[in-house]
Amino acid sequence: MAAPGGYGGPPPQQWNAGMGPPPSDFRQGQGPPRQPLAQGPPQRGPPPMQGMPQFQGYGQVGGFGQMAPMPPPPPPPPPQGKPPSMEFTDLANLDEAACKSAMIEHVNQNCCYGKKPANEMNLSKAIGLTALHYTLETFCEGRDTGYVNEPYRGGPVDGPQNGPPPPPWAIPCQPNGMFETHTKEMEVPHTATVRPCHDCDARGYHRCWRCGGDGRCSCHTCGGDGRITCDTCDGYRQMKCYIKLTVTYTNHNEDHIIERTDMPDELVRHAKGETIFEQVMTQVFPITSYPVREINDNSVRLVNSHRSAFPNERQLQQRQRLRAVPVTEANYTWEDFSSRFWVYGLERKVHAPDYPQQCFGGNLLELQITKHDSVIKRTLALTQIYNSSKPQ
Ligand SMILES: [Zn+2]
Ligand SMILES: [Zn+2]
Repeated sequence: MAAPGGYGGPPPQQWNAGMGPPPSDFRQGQGPPRQPLAQGPPQRGPPPMQGMPQFQGYGQVGGFGQMAPMPPPPPPPPPQGKPPSMEFTDLANLDEAACKSAMIEHVNQNCCYGKKPANEMNLSKAIGLTALHYTLETFCEGRDTGYVNEPYRGGPVDGPQNGPPPPPWAIPCQPNGMFETHTKEMEVPHTATVRPCHDCDARGYHRCWRCGGDGRCSCHTCGGDGRITCDTCDGYRQMKCYIKLTVTYTNHNEDHIIERTDMPDELVRHAKGETIFEQVMTQVFPITSYPVREINDNSVRLVNSHRSAFPNERQLQQRQRLRAVPVTEANYTWEDFSSRFWVYGLERKVHAPDYPQQCFGGNLLELQITKHDSVIKRTLALTQIYNSSKPQ
């Protein structure tokens, strides 16, 4: 017959204040040891590792509250043979009229921008320079194990009596989605044991830290009982200890941007573009035959660096992508003001840091740029109503 609270026995009973009077000699100092009176509940440490069962394949398991990485199986050899044929597509850029209509659209969507310059500006020339955005994603899996303990509230316990635990990398676990960073946690089969609570010596309660167990009727912490429920076992007297497995899926993402205009390159990263090449494999072959050598060089560099960059993880899948993002630089004049702006992305976003009429903090900002010996000098002036003022 199983002991109460043991494997498959009746559910253990939780200790609660008022379940009965404390042992007759409790007030004389028997039972839980007296501690110096405190302002708050005492800090309690993890249970001792002493006496925990040892498991084959788990020599490097972390102690209570510590997760330790489990070395992954050796990686497969790099892909052999001829790389699959790589086909690339390309796309056209915008002309002056398309740039101007993108600017008018941008200003219309932005209540802070005066519409006058967009409608009246003259575009002298538009230079289309397609930006290239190469990304390499390496989707990896890491496994960590460590001991955890929790109050044993009853129910089946999957312990060593059911056989040896499977090795850490043999436990089935599937990612929720490829190329998505997330974690999963589970109990390692056959590692659970039920042990007496180390904090309260399986009493389910502690001597009250405020009144020392004297049970003063004015003590609000124990309500005059002299005892308080053990936080560690939640009054259940026993703890279930087991090895927890944490599986971490990480999408390692690196990229390289080629953008030839003076627009900040990073704007290309989140702009829509056309995919001119994509490959998903366990291990991709780097791009070597694209007409732009800088792309080939950086594809080889990133693929090679990812091969050894994550030694504690198993590589599940790789994806490389080459996107073409249209970027058009447009030069324009408006009244005696001249500058340039950029239209980028398939969604035709506009980057116009020098746009003549922008408001700031609710006021319209007039921004004047004059060119002197190739030095750009800026003068800023605030106006309340943009239509009534013009750059000087
Ligand atoms: Zn008390
Ligand atoms: Zn306890």
